[in-house]
Amino acid sequence: MKCRHCQSDQCFEVIDLGHAPPSNAYLSPAQLARPEIWYPLRVMVCSECWLMQTVDVTDYSQLFDADYAYFSSYSASWLAHAKNLVTHLITRFHLTPEQLVVEVAANDGYLLQYVKDAGIRCLGIEPTLSTAIAAREKGLEIETCFFGTQTADQLSQKGCQADCMIANNVLAHVPDINDFVGGFTRLLKPTGVITFEFPHVLALLQHHQFDTIYHEHFSYLSLLSVTRILQQQGLMVFDVEQLTTHGGSLRLYVQHQQTGPHATNPQVNALLDLEREAGLAYPATYQALNQQAIEAKHALLAFLLTQKQAGNTVVAYGAAAKGNTFLNYAGIRPDLLEAVVDRNPHKQGKYLPGSRIPIVDETYLRERQPRYILILPWNLTTEIIEQLSYARQWGAQFVRAIPALEIL
Ligand SMILES: [Zn+2]
Repeated sequence: MKCRHCQSDQCFEVIDLGHAPPSNAYLSPAQLARPEIWYPLRVMVCSECWLMQTVDVTDYSQLFDADYAYFSSYSASWLAHAKNLVTHLITRFHLTPEQLVVEVAANDGYLLQYVKDAGIRCLGIEPTLSTAIAAREKGLEIETCFFGTQTADQLSQKGCQADCMIANNVLAHVPDINDFVGGFTRLLKPTGVITFEFPHVLALLQHHQFDTIYHEHFSYLSLLSVTRILQQQGLMVFDVEQLTTHGGSLRLYVQHQQTGPHATNPQVNALLDLEREAGLAYPATYQALNQQAIEAKHALLAFLLTQKQAGNTVVAYGAAAKGNTFLNYAGIRPDLLEAVVDRNPHKQGKYLPGSRIPIVDETYLRERQPRYILILPWNLTTEIIEQLSYARQWGAQFVRAIPALEIL
């Protein structure tokens, strides 16, 4: 394949996870009688620009349908994170009510609600209709479309220019990353600021987070690769923070290369050096992930088989995309994992794609009283254990499978 950013054909295979259906394609009971389409799930890394990327397999419209079940507002810790970011941006960049904040991938308004509360003008851009409707119910203005140069031009022609743009956990999810970033260049005022947050590929590699790989996740980003992508579009990073969200993320502060007013924090070069020292400019560093995934798969299968033979019940918690990658890669079905509990009412009553494990609400846990609760979204471990602490009363133990199988 050719690199999606720089078109180089010097791409090396990182990991082959077999085949999987789109990870957000939750099935209704009626859909269980129908076939599912499984696509190859392979990841490459480009040795020119070090962009780690999922190999293209499917048309994008299938990956984000109108039924999209991920509503940001269902995670309490994510809401707090959004609120803190808004407060920080208002203070640091002196945002005033007449300025404009644009959020790309505004989802259900989980973040812009705080901008609105602060009395600052804002606009959300969100391609999925169900979440956009939820955002409008919060009184937010939302454009329902995919973001890129075309959308940015249309908004600019209407006189829309942003003082501050926010894009959390979307940069890695766009198929055409060059066109997407180009949209920011066009919509941002000459002195404006953009913040991008995305999972850091260094954390993925160091903590064996292979389950964050799925078709809708097109890119796995480092500061090395993103700096280059931004540069091509006339943008530059002037500050960076390492965050603990999603198992290790980066938050970049970005401005126009030519007209941006902010001095570059030495932290930017320090992190670039750290990435080089960690081996992010060698294919072998990325390719170690394949063996780590095999080991994690064997460990989880051995655990589930042992519990099956001992007559112990195991129920999973969190019907997230990453769980689907792992369960389908490992070939786990309801005979080994009978149900997955999730708080999101939009998912309850449905089935996980591929593995077809039923998604149930929390009352199932109290009635079934499983011996083990397998936490699939390991990034929310603390929050989930706290929320389910009552399960300790019947002797339940919590289990996590990544970075290595662990009973907590
Ligand atoms: Zn490349």
